[in-house]
Amino acid sequence: MVSPRPAVQALPTYRPGRNPADLAREIGVARAVKLASNEVSFPPLPAVLQAVTSTMAESNRYPDNAAVVLTGALAERYGVDPEQVVIGSGAVTLCQQLAQSFADPGTSMAFAWRSFEMYPLLAQVAGARDVRVPLVPGRPGGPADTHDLTALAAAVDDTTRVVFVCNPNNPTGTAVRGPALERFLDAVPTSTLVVLDEAYREFVTDPEVPDGVDVMRGRPNVAVLRTFSKAWGLAGLRVGYLLAEDPAVAEAVRKTNVPFSVSLVAQAAAVAALDSEDEVRARCATVTAERARLTGELRARGLVVEDSQANFVWLPLGERSAEVAAELEARAVITRPFPGEGVRVTVGSAEEDDVFLGALDDVLSSRDLLPAGA
Ligand SMILES: *Cc1c(COP(=O)(O)O)cnc(C)c1O
Repeated sequence: MVSPRPAVQALPTYRPGRNPADLAREIGVARAVKLASNEVSFPPLPAVLQAVTSTMAESNRYPDNAAVVLTGALAERYGVDPEQVVIGSGAVTLCQQLAQSFADPGTSMAFAWRSFEMYPLLAQVAGARDVRVPLVPGRPGGPADTHDLTALAAAVDDTTRVVFVCNPNNPTGTAVRGPALERFLDAVPTSTLVVLDEAYREFVTDPEVPDGVDVMRGRPNVAVLRTFSKAWGLAGLRVGYLLAEDPAVAEAVRKTNVPFSVSLVAQAAAVAALDSEDEVRARCATVTAERARLTGELRARGLVVEDSQANFVWLPLGERSAEVAAELEARAVITRPFPGEGVRVTVGSAEEDDVFLGALDDVLSSRDLLPAGA
């Protein structure tokens, strides 16, 4: 019998969220609402649709492995050298490449926990130790939801090759501010790479939350990870990018790229999306206004909800999380439960969010599902 590597055998089996069409069919409704994966609810940008259609005609050819046009467009947008940019097949693939490029067996990767669920898996596959530093309450008496950067810096030792700081944090939506982040970066040894995962940067409205690209400047052990999947609406096309202050970091990540993994269509779509930035900004403003409305509606129901800087809200429902999510799903609303901790709900369109709120009201009134004090 063949046997996979022990590190791979130990990995949990990935359980994707429910597909809305399947769920709708199963429970016999016309439509289920999916608020589980932090996509935007807008259709693809018109320029993206056009770019995708026209590049399809060339899809008998391999894509440009160096993604020169997209790399150039990103370098220009951020005022960096093309050498500092790496394109990947989604930011998660770049996370994997970071682990492959920097973490040997016996080393470690550190990050806050709860945070992006990929981080521990990447460390495990690389055979590296994962060091998880608990989140702390965002305010006195509040739920545990914010990076403890002092503890994270203290957890870094000479085995730590990569530290992820997810800002804003998935799934809690909280973000660290400039001075705390600068102090943290000052404390981390320059031999440890700090990756600022800014998948949700475009939804940040707190002016004190810094742009990682500004923070990165002059710090050769810092890199910033971004994606076209969320604000830019290309989740189905798979494009992300890494900006590294030190071109050698970018070069190392490029070396573990699977050739041609960013398709021709995806590259063209990303370039078209960048050209539509004004439209994207307007969409993000719609999302953040809806986020404020949704947060207010949830608080009006007596729920504890921190301000989110991303396009989702976090309901710290503790032991009731899995049950609330299951009850919502039975009412055709798919959210993302983290059993024992909370439920993450993507900010959808106002109409989708109203369907969610209606289902939630139904769940809360039919069952005693609120934790004490919430
Ligand atoms: C969604 C997400 C990503 C990237 O997703 P891709 O679709 O692979 O680009 C990266 N980091 C975090 C924290 C995310 O939530």
